[in-house]
Amino acid sequence: MRRLQEQILRDGQALSNTVLKVDKFLNHQVDPELTMEIGREFALRFQGEPITKVLTIEASGIHFALATSVALGVPFIYAKKKKAVTLTEDLYTAEVFSFTRQETFQVSVSKRYLSEQDRVLIVDDFLATGDALLGLINIVGQSGAQLVGVGAVIEKSFQDGRGKLEAAGVRVHSLARIASMSPAHIEFIEEQEE
Ligand code: 5GP
Repeated sequence: MRRLQEQILRDGQALSNTVLKVDKFLNHQVDPELTMEIGREFALRFQGEPITKVLTIEASGIHFALATSVALGVPFIYAKKKKAVTLTEDLYTAEVFSFTRQETFQVSVSKRYLSEQDRVLIVDDFLATGDALLGLINIVGQSGAQLVGVGAVIEKSFQDGRGKLEAAGVRVHSLARIASMSPAHIEFIEEQEE
């Protein structure tokens, strides 16, 4: 997505070869027009799929899930994160290792809101190691719902997340794919937009 790439180059900051700071427009201060455009783009990429729910993880996926669910006309759910590992019968839960925080946490979704009747599109801000998204995929699996695919706003293609998701047979669409980066330069993988 051209506009997203341009905004990453203008307002993003590669803090190192692995961590990209995008808090000027994506995950702290938020550009609402870009966010809505991202939602429409995800809806377009998965056009033709009868999606019933959009699923994300709190907090920085929520506005993208909202924008996507507005474009699709379906509800969205955000998985809740917590440290405590109290198993509750009415929750689907999965363990996730956080790349940015370097710690394990639990994500959960109420059994009331996902069932085998659902067809789910998962969206999130970043695809890096893929752990967060695999946690959500695990939850979709527990619910018996069908996973339609995964949409990531920014993919760091030099990390192994996409490989893990594709190995699990998951359809992945990322709107900006970073081939490599350093504090001086960000290189994208150019794709034909479908
Ligand atoms: P993953 O599980 O794919 O390794 O990463 C999941 C989460 O880590 C993302 O949803 C995002 O919140 C955070 N994350 C991963 N890499 C980056 C990064 O380079 N910059 C920022 N700001 N967050 C990141």
